Amino acid sequence: MKNANTTRRDEIAAGLAEVERRIAGACETAGRARHEITLVAVTKTYPASDVRILTGLGVRDVGENRDQEAAAKASECADLPLTWHFVGQLQTNKARSVVSYADVIHSVDRARLAEALGREAVKAGRRVTCLVQVALDDDPGRGGVVPAQLPALADLIAVTEGLALGGVMAVAPLGGDPGRAFARLLGLSFALRVEHPHASVVSAGMSGDLTQAIAHGATHLRVGTALLGRRKPFVR
Ligand SMILES: *Cc1c(COP(=O)(O)O)cnc(C)c1O
Repeated sequence: MKNANTTRRDEIAAGLAEVERRIAGACETAGRARHEITLVAVTKTYPASDVRILTGLGVRDVGENRDQEAAAKASECADLPLTWHFVGQLQTNKARSVVSYADVIHSVDRARLAEALGREAVKAGRRVTCLVQVALDDDPGRGGVVPAQLPALADLIAVTEGLALGGVMAVAPLGGDPGRAFARLLGLSFALRVEHPHASVVSAGMSGDLTQAIAHGATHLRVGTALLGRRKPFVR
């Protein structure tokens, strides 16, 4: 039962402490250091006031998955020292808006999108880090290129003005073994780094599978529910 006096800050602080405890345990098991891992707090559906609380608790990376919501929140939080990550499927016609606030886009999965992002980033005088989202199952509905298309899209991003190739991202397949999926992603990341040594980001792991992600080399975790609570079903 929730104590009536529990403030939102206390709730979020408890969620963050628990997530940090899980990260520390997974790092210890994997023989990794905490500083190798960036925790991206996925704040979608939650208000800017929660972003402010997270910032007060030391979080510096936040993630969103819908442009309209993200643009409004980023502008409300423009005074905060945050790095904004865009983690959702992205329509090409949102490129201009997204490059205006996003520092890292985790979900680049086609050439046309990369070209549009580059064009708009140049116009805006920005340089945006892009990750190639890889589909680790055969469910195209969740975005991502099939692994065979990763090298070509990565090469395109690397030569596109306005963009920097950061690395790879994936969502573990529903119902599968996340460890197997993340091991595969890490293998793809190693192969990518033969050609692109600086593209070292491996964005993997969410609330339910962050331990497995850390075991398999994740550098960025995208965590929403475990920090902020379960999201209400989204109504458009
Ligand atoms: C919402 C979302 C997350 C966070 O998921 P949780 O299970 O709430 O931690 C991570 N990655 C992507 C791409 C998301 O859309």
